[in-house]
Amino acid sequence: EQITVAFLGLGHMGGPMAVNLVRAGYTVAGFDVVPAALDAAQTHGVPTAASPLDAIAGADVVLTMFPSGQHVLDAYRGAEGQPGLLAEAKPGTMFLDCSTINVDEAREASALAIAAGHRAVDAPVSGGVVGAEAGTLTFMVGGEAEDFEAVRPLLEVMGKRVVHCGGHGGGQAAKICNNLILGVSMIAVSEAFVLGEKLGLTHQALFDVASNASGQCWALTTNCPVPGPVPTSPANRDYQPGFAGALMAKDLRLALNALESTGVAARLGPLASEIYDTFAAEGGAGRDFSGIITDIRDKS
Ligand code: NAD
Repeated sequence: EQITVAFLGLGHMGGPMAVNLVRAGYTVAGFDVVPAALDAAQTHGVPTAASPLDAIAGADVVLTMFPSGQHVLDAYRGAEGQPGLLAEAKPGTMFLDCSTINVDEAREASALAIAAGHRAVDAPVSGGVVGAEAGTLTFMVGGEAEDFEAVRPLLEVMGKRVVHCGGHGGGQAAKICNNLILGVSMIAVSEAFVLGEKLGLTHQALFDVASNASGQCWALTTNCPVPGPVPTSPANRDYQPGFAGALMAKDLRLALNALESTGVAARLGPLASEIYDTFAAEGGAGRDFSGIITDIRDKS
């Protein structure tokens, strides 16, 4: 049977994701509060609706791709006199949130949806705009097993890996734990390269040793923060993203919130969050997050 998807949030990620659903034959009704985003999606073949309620009328799935958890909760509940999606959707609608938000917010959003008689999963992504366009995103999914199976075919249209990470909030948890590793490891790799420079090591020598030794990691061998050793890394194109500093700062902030609310005795996570907040505020927001090495070098 034909599945109808209300696709809300047609920004950098949502726009191309919606295009891939349309191409795969899904009936899509797109909506964004920014008219330019709506127009762009329409130009790329996504049927659009005049309002969120028009978009969700008759939808089987309400997919959201918003900037933050507050946007998701406001849309679900209704805010500023706007009717809430949960109250207006037909009973049993699948609420599929692909935004990157706090674990607690994801759990709250899912609980609200279920209390309103719907189904819900959180399914944040990694892979960036390039992955959204190519349909090669990784989806990290939190929710009941049967709901995971229900959304899997749809997610497989937009992504190449779809991983069930446990109950509600599990997708968000997996994403921020991964990005905590990534943020900290990029800082470590960058500090090591700057230290190597001071000690007279060439970038290539350090790379040749560490990439074949216990310092090996993605931040070194795929997204190497110095130009040369890995020709495809953003460092070779003046740190054009890639994975923008603003997004790393955002994800580490979410990790920090979770570290604080769970009481984990973490030290590097909070520090990495602070380091990337500063990087983003001082001109790194639109640069690849590996550009952190230039900050370290400049301040040395
Ligand atoms: P974006 O700001 O480009 O898009 C978000 C869109 O949501 C905007 O167009 C905004 O107008 C719209 N929006 C907000 N509230 C709305 C509402 N109530 N109804 C309809 N539309 C609404 O952001 P993005 O880069 O597409 O990222 C979306 C999410 O994906 C974020 O949570 C982000 O952290 C996550 N993410 C982004 C990337 C990336 O590389 N850009 C990678 C992985 C995950």
